[in-house]
Amino acid sequence: MKKFFLLVVVALLAGLFFAFDLHQYLTLETLQARRDEFIALKNESPWLVTGVAFIGYVLVTALSLPGALVMNLVFNPQGATLPPNQAALEADYKRELFEHFGIHFNQLLAIANMPIQRFGSMLISKGQFNDYMRLLHENFAAANLDTVMCRNLVSVDWQGFMYDCDFNQQLGLALTGMGRPHLRDLLQQDIEGQTIRVADHCYGCTAGQGSSCGGAIGQSPAVPTHKAIRDIQ
Ligand code: SF4
Repeated sequence: MKKFFLLVVVALLAGLFFAFDLHQYLTLETLQARRDEFIALKNESPWLVTGVAFIGYVLVTALSLPGALVMNLVFNPQGATLPPNQAALEADYKRELFEHFGIHFNQLLAIANMPIQRFGSMLISKGQFNDYMRLLHENFAAANLDTVMCRNLVSVDWQGFMYDCDFNQQLGLALTGMGRPHLRDLLQQDIEGQTIRVADHCYGCTAGQGSSCGGAIGQSPAVPTHKAIRDIQ
C-alpha cells in the first residue's frame, strides 16, 4: 500500500514534469549552460539542494526504480584456471540466484587472477606457478591489447605517485623512462603516448577473454587510448 502511494506520487510528479515542459531543462546542453547557476544556488542554499537530492534518492530507492541500486557480482576462479565465458556465467548466475533466492543483479564481472602477490605465492607454494603462466601464455589474445585498462586508466598511490595500473603499483614498477611521477608533476609533464611498463603478469590481463577491474574485455568495443603498449609476445 505504501509502495502504491509512492508510485502514485511519482506518477503525478512525472506527469506535472512533462505537462509543464520541464524536461527541456534536463538536456546536457541546458545543464552545461546552467552549471554556474546551479553552483551558485548550491552555495546559497546548500540545505535546499541537499534536501531535494535526498528526497529524490529516497523516492527512487523506495520504488526500486532502475538506476537506484546497482549490484554487480565479481567472479574469480578458485584455482589456477582462466575464468569461464563471462556472458554465459552471468546468465547462469542470474538464473540460479533468481530461481533459488529471488536475487536480481545487474552484471557479473569475470576477473582473472594475476600471478603476483598473494595468488602468485599460493601458486608457488602449490607448485602450480609455471603451469599457470603457461596457461596464460598459451591463451594470449593480441586483440585484448587494445582494451587492457592501462590504455586509458592510471593508478595513483596514497602519496600521489602514479603508475600504469594497480598491479604495477603493487609490484613497485615505475613508468617506463619517467620513474614515478607525482600528480603535481603532471601539470608540467604530458603522459600522452607514454609507453606502458609491461611484464609477465600482463598475460593475466590479455589471456582468453581478457581481464580488467570491469571484468572481461574481449567483447568490449575499442576505446580511445592515451598510452601506447608494447607487444608483450
Ligand atoms: S596489461 Fe600489464 S600494465 Fe596493463 S593493466 Fe594489465 S598488468 Fe597492468
